[in-house]
Amino acid sequence: MDYSTEDGWHEPRIIPYQPLTMDPSSLVFHYGQAVFEGLKAYHFQDKLLLFRPEKNFKRLNESNRRMNIPEIDENFMVDALKELVKLEKDWIPTKEGQSLYIRPFIIATEASLSVKPSSRYKLIIILSPVGAYYSNSEQMSPVSIFVEDDYVRSVKGGVGFTKTAGNYAASLKAQKKAEELGYDQVLWLDAIEKKYIEEVGSMNIFFKINGEVITPALNGSILEGITRNSVIELLKSWDIPVTERLISIEEVEAAHENGTLEEVFGTGTAAVISPVGTLKWKGTDLSINNGETGKLSLDLYETIAGIQTGMMEDKMGWTVTVQA
Ligand code: PMP
Repeated sequence: MDYSTEDGWHEPRIIPYQPLTMDPSSLVFHYGQAVFEGLKAYHFQDKLLLFRPEKNFKRLNESNRRMNIPEIDENFMVDALKELVKLEKDWIPTKEGQSLYIRPFIIATEASLSVKPSSRYKLIIILSPVGAYYSNSEQMSPVSIFVEDDYVRSVKGGVGFTKTAGNYAASLKAQKKAEELGYDQVLWLDAIEKKYIEEVGSMNIFFKINGEVITPALNGSILEGITRNSVIELLKSWDIPVTERLISIEEVEAAHENGTLEEVFGTGTAAVISPVGTLKWKGTDLSINNGETGKLSLDLYETIAGIQTGMMEDKMGWTVTVQA
């Protein structure tokens, strides 16, 4: 679908995957006006299941507003996506856990070397079959995380709450550093005091301390994950105390020291729930739950993945069903 200031969003169309021809002066190549989303479709019997797709398009519009990109019609996009997955149903793996990854994105296409909002955009959705992240829940192996206190990901008033391409480009250096040191992912801290926990590279993060589940509150610099929101709603429905608030790395370290840090896990579309076995902070490896997957992480994974794949009844009303 294209956008021009004269015609607004127009010409939605479905075409085979192919290279794009673009002007080398397209604004996106120079000034980074690009936003994206990520979600998955599952095959269940003769149906296709989408998980809360309206939330992805709502978040896309939040990114659009901040990045000065014209808003899209969220209802239209959900309907268009349903048509698209129906047409591509043969590409959606039927094997348990496998899915079709859906990547909507918008780029600025006006040819200009001036720094300004583009008068032209392209919204594209590409689809790609993906294997199961874990072959089954016993395979959930905890990840190790490096707490980054040098580089920062986001600042107040910035674009941290959006899914804009530059956020990810800016995170690569720290991610590479963490990998070179032998860790899987980076945990970002706030930019000013370098002590309050924000999020992981492509996941939100939760801590279970003394029976209470805590996740950093949305503060404008972290992404409002759809899995994060689903975890919070599920925990509330299970009567497990869950709080969104400031949480510092020192608080986590103290809880580790006094034995009340029970579980740590990340949440995101790719892994759903990713247990954390090690946190590297100031030269020390904090081992969590003896490096093993905790019960809460497992219960959350089995419930959310179960709902997403149709294997578990969707009491929350989260899935959008498309008759294949
Ligand atoms: N934070 C960041 C920076 C991310 O890229 C993602 C992945 N979209 C998340 C958190 C998790 O969000 P979601 O649960 O919507 O996938």
